[in-house]
Amino acid sequence: MSCKIPEDCIFCGTCAEECPNGAIYEGEVQFHVDPEKCTECVGCYERPRCIEACPLELPLKDPDHQETREALLAKWRKLNPGKEPNIF
Ligand code: SF4
Repeated sequence: MSCKIPEDCIFCGTCAEECPNGAIYEGEVQFHVDPEKCTECVGCYERPRCIEACPLELPLKDPDHQETREALLAKWRKLNPGKEPNIF
């Protein structure tokens, strides 16, 4: 599952600075998460950094992009060839 940023986003950019995968990008009026790059922080952190960093705790798990932990780890490995994950 990827994370998703709801429309209540105040466009502060904190989440984009914290994302280890560069998955968060700026839209016209809010930030968005690229599900092809989001691993829910599997491979890097115990919990999604964007949720922890957001001053309003807005990012949510996106039910439209559900993946197993194994699939998220495989995505992380594809995004980070040659590196070893910190968190399995
Ligand atoms: Fe980036 Fe992690 Fe948030 Fe996904 S859960 S968008 S990888 S900070």
